[in-house]
Amino acid sequence: MLLSEVTTMRVGGPAGSVVRPVSEGELVAAVRQAWASGEEWLVLGGGSNVVVSDAGIDGTVILVSNRGIEVLSADATSVRLRVQAGEPWDALVAHAVDQGWAGIEALSGIPGSSGAGPIQNIGAYGQELSSVLVAVDFLDYLSGELSRLPAVELGLGYRTSALKRGREGVVVAIELELAVSGESVVAFPQLAEALGVELGTRVPIALVRSSVLPLRAAKGMLLDPSDPNSVSCGSFFTNPVVGENFARGLPPDALRWPVEPEPEDVAVPLGSALPARPESDDRVKLSAAWLIEHSGIGRGFSLPGSRAAISSKHTLAIINRGGATAEEVAELARYIEAMVLSRFGVHLVPEPVAVGLQI
Ligand SMILES: Cc1cc2nc3c(=O)[nH]c(=O)nc-3n(C[C@H](O)[C@H](O)[C@H](O)COP(=O)(O)OP(=O)(O)OC[C@H]3O[C@@H](n4cnc5c(N)ncnc54)[C@H](O)[C@@H]3O)c2cc1C
Repeated sequence: MLLSEVTTMRVGGPAGSVVRPVSEGELVAAVRQAWASGEEWLVLGGGSNVVVSDAGIDGTVILVSNRGIEVLSADATSVRLRVQAGEPWDALVAHAVDQGWAGIEALSGIPGSSGAGPIQNIGAYGQELSSVLVAVDFLDYLSGELSRLPAVELGLGYRTSALKRGREGVVVAIELELAVSGESVVAFPQLAEALGVELGTRVPIALVRSSVLPLRAAKGMLLDPSDPNSVSCGSFFTNPVVGENFARGLPPDALRWPVEPEPEDVAVPLGSALPARPESDDRVKLSAAWLIEHSGIGRGFSLPGSRAAISSKHTLAIINRGGATAEEVAELARYIEAMVLSRFGVHLVPEPVAVGLQI
């Protein structure tokens, strides 16, 4: 099988072998078998956040396909769910919205699997998975053990986690806690505008879902076989976070938002008091789309002869216009990075995971 058949960017060479475990037990067994072989291995859900090299993978590709949503507990205010890693994320959101369970409705329409959600702490329209994630069941590559990792141990941040940063293993299931209120607080300006309400207004979650889906479609951010702009990994770059002094040197119209500083990692001997957190610089999030556009790269842009291009609906998405290679995608990404770096001195970080190639 070619991995271009199972990735939304439609790039990626051959796989040595492919397995599709459909239960938790099968997934754990398949992963352990792949690890025991000592060969290359890759776990994929919906293939919507990877750029796999044209050389493909010599070893085993595990297509996580275990589905199921289980209610662990419920009370007057919340419900605790355990969701199998292979459950399509948007099927989970649709189910939660139908049941009146609030907390993930603004994440409607994000492609891929539930198990991949924690890898980059998926987020959109003012919500992030981290605000409802309780724990994951994780098969650890180093220890070979399957254990329940509380969300606080996952190092979740803006489009990142310890798992994305290199802790190897496989998420078998995720545990979420959702509110049974049926309502959501609107926390994203564009969503507020679409709903015709002020930021901070409480609205029914079904309304949030039905507003987010067309907003995403208008940007090519909803997987749709009839939309060539959705042959992508979604946003290709994260919004860079810089110090306030650096941001002051940028043109005044450069879009920016303040962000809370991330807590520093500290090692403290058991039994001793936690040290005061050192003052950290104020931090500012810049718009990667603004930086790209103002580096002279507009919608629809492509390098001469390349079949990879910028989406004609959204500057942040790189799309495969048909038959592009992974190298063409990477070449365009590197070009964009170089242009933004030379124009603004800002280093853009790709959001998708590059497998077997350098972006
Ligand atoms: C049109 C479009 C719109 C998008 N919009 C958004 C958005 O708004 N917000 C957002 O955050 N993301 C967005 N994305 C990115 C993507 O959908 C998410 O990152 C999603 O969570 C990826 O899920 P997946 O199952 O497709 O992961 P894959 O692409 O299959 O895998 C991604 C990475 O996670 C690893 N992985 C996958 N499953 C597991 C597992 N069970 N255990 C351990 N590792 C695993 C893979 O090895 C790989 O490194 C978008 C993508 C597209 C194509």
